[in-house]
Amino acid sequence: MRLVIIGGGILGTAHAWAAIARGHEVVHLEREREARGATVRNFGLVWVSGRSAGELELTLRSRELWEEIGGRVAGVGFRPAGSITLVRTPAELAVAEAAASGPTAAARGFALLEPEQVLALNPALRGKYLAGLHCSTDAAVESRQALPALRAHMAASGRYTFHESTEARSITDTGAGAVVLDDRGRRYEADLVVHCPGAAHSGLTRELAGELPVRRVRLQMMQTEPLGEELTTAIADGDSFRYYPGFAGPQVDSLTAEQSQTATAAEHKMQLLCVQRLHGGLTIGDTHEYTEPFAFDVDEAPYEHLTEVTEELLGRRLPRVVRRWAGVYSQSVDPDAIVTRARADTNVWVVTGPGGRGMTLGPAIGEQTADQIGL
Ligand SMILES: Cc1cc2nc3c(=O)[nH]c(=O)nc-3n(C[C@H](O)[C@H](O)[C@H](O)COP(=O)(O)OP(=O)(O)OC[C@H]3O[C@@H](n4cnc5c(N)ncnc54)[C@H](O)[C@@H]3O)c2cc1C
Repeated sequence: MRLVIIGGGILGTAHAWAAIARGHEVVHLEREREARGATVRNFGLVWVSGRSAGELELTLRSRELWEEIGGRVAGVGFRPAGSITLVRTPAELAVAEAAASGPTAAARGFALLEPEQVLALNPALRGKYLAGLHCSTDAAVESRQALPALRAHMAASGRYTFHESTEARSITDTGAGAVVLDDRGRRYEADLVVHCPGAAHSGLTRELAGELPVRRVRLQMMQTEPLGEELTTAIADGDSFRYYPGFAGPQVDSLTAEQSQTATAAEHKMQLLCVQRLHGGLTIGDTHEYTEPFAFDVDEAPYEHLTEVTEELLGRRLPRVVRRWAGVYSQSVDPDAIVTRARADTNVWVVTGPGGRGMTLGPAIGEQTADQIGL
């Protein structure tokens, strides 16, 4: 079968990967020179810890796929480093204790660590905290280099072609297949088209699928110079418990009622996530903005908060911040929907809305679509 896949982010790339693995031919279109959406702006965290119990099986499957892909494509930078969520108040500790003794703790690889155990596992964490929730199944990839590395690997099959700077402008279903036209008038004939536009909900996406049940979310991020030492695990702060469904329960309700977040963290719906890049710098975030129109500039106050919290946990000054950016992802409005898949026509699918877990779940979403379509 010949597929045209639109969108060079992780969802488009994961769908291409699944199709190539099943022996099909893929023509992959990306409107920019290189993907510029959420995928290249994210943390690269394969985050098992906070996923809901209902999503856990798919999340673990995706993590398994990432590990397998990472073993075959070194450029993906897969590392099974785990994470530690550092708790700083009794209410946060109660959430960590509940998670570590919950029914899915073993599957996630949760363990509650005393400060000395945290330090033994991650000697860079010399700051102030009460305990750490270790998640041994969390992992990381290098998002910005993963996409070209995956494409190079697929190209070696002889059945994969990538067209950069190529915007898909129309798709016409022919009954037996579909024809895609790009912005230079070039035609691509396919048996099946999968459109993975990320947060581009308007234009072609709206023409194909109407108003999808998705919304957009904007996040602010930053990156430092190399830390000069190894951060052996990713880290998070207790604010992250507020946002991940995997931690939901009475302990999180008390945490929320306690209103212990700082005014800046509460205003910008913040958590701290921090992961060390392979070059040694730290990627640190984030904020959550849900109301459009989004600002096009980045706000300084959240960065001051993130710097303060990270320095408190590391017990040292952060290296100089060298980059700041914002990113927007597409999130399905139904909290139980992992992704939004719409069959726009007989041979045309639109797949988007994986929310803040698209990097984690990308490979499994690609596999699931391939199973569903019968590739
Ligand atoms: C700041 C930030 C941090 C995040 N951190 C994490 C994390 O650590 N872990 C995690 O699991 N998830 C994370 N996420 C979420 C994750 O990044 C996204 O869910 C995921 O990247 C979405 O992938 P995508 O392929 O759907 O979209 P995108 O990466 O946005 O890719 C869509 C691509 O489609 C292209 N395109 C659109 N329309 C057309 C067209 N008509 N023709 C050709 N090309 C087109 C765009 O140019 C774009 O390159 C984060 C998101 C953000 C913004």
